[in-house]
Amino acid sequence: MGVLDTFKLDGKTAVVTGAGRGLGQAVCVALAEAGANVFGTGFAPDAAATRALVEKAGRRFAYLSADLSSIEPIEKIFAAALEAFSRVDIVVNNAGIIRRADSVDFSEEQWDEVVNVNLKSVFFMCQAAARQFIAQKSGGRIINIASVLSFQGGIRVPSYTAAKSGIKGITMSMANEWAKFGINTNAIAPGYMVTDNTEAIRADAARNAAILERIPAGRWGEPGDIAGAAVFLASPAAAYVNGYTLAVDGGWLGR
Ligand code: NAP
Repeated sequence: MGVLDTFKLDGKTAVVTGAGRGLGQAVCVALAEAGANVFGTGFAPDAAATRALVEKAGRRFAYLSADLSSIEPIEKIFAAALEAFSRVDIVVNNAGIIRRADSVDFSEEQWDEVVNVNLKSVFFMCQAAARQFIAQKSGGRIINIASVLSFQGGIRVPSYTAAKSGIKGITMSMANEWAKFGINTNAIAPGYMVTDNTEAIRADAARNAAILERIPAGRWGEPGDIAGAAVFLASPAAAYVNGYTLAVDGGWLGR
């Protein structure tokens, strides 16, 4: 088997949260192009655009609308994924939100909303994934979407920084516990990407210019910029990569 064959995902099933737009959509398309069928979830009632792109890549797509602001739907997500595709090999925890306010004014609600979606539900999705991989005796891949704010403080986003720093931490702790089951748990830390999540700061001319000036690549990232990292971490090529948070940030963290 040549090295390029180790990046293939033929016959695999991937569960992707936040599948309908932004980075999650790009991950769905990338995994499908590499060979995987995709079970998407999101807050929205459907993910028609993502479905069309996955099917164009020649793979099957199934979807469940689920609100991950609580852990209640997680059992249903895995039951529906198993009903659609009989197995799960890859789980990408991508759904995430952000709330911005000065830390002196930050509310408990702004704290809980972000920590619930971006950290608590991610942990319990990982736990459900690991239980399924152990039951299948197959091993598996977990990819959590972290952030450069897993490494830095950020400005006016304390609950987001807390959650994303937590993601980097639990990605390591889960790798420590589950490597023995053939489960690889890694994360991708995107830099500043063009999605709805960054609409507000891109619309603020001064913030936009300050961010752009600091990105060594000289441009904002596009969702497709994380495609290669997602396929790599989901694939046999990354068999010995575990517990790591890989920045895909145009060089931002190195500066
Ligand atoms: P986005 O375009 O705003 O998409 C967010 C996704 O999360 C949507 O698919 C949304 O579902 C889903 N979601 C939000 N709340 C949910 C809930 N309560 N239950 C279920 N799904 C929910 O953002 P994005 O930029 O693609 O972000 C994807 C991930 O990358 C997030 O974890 C974000 O923190 C991270 N990230 C983004 C950047 C960036 O620069 N954009 C940088 C670093 C990290 P619906 O579409 O159904 O509403």
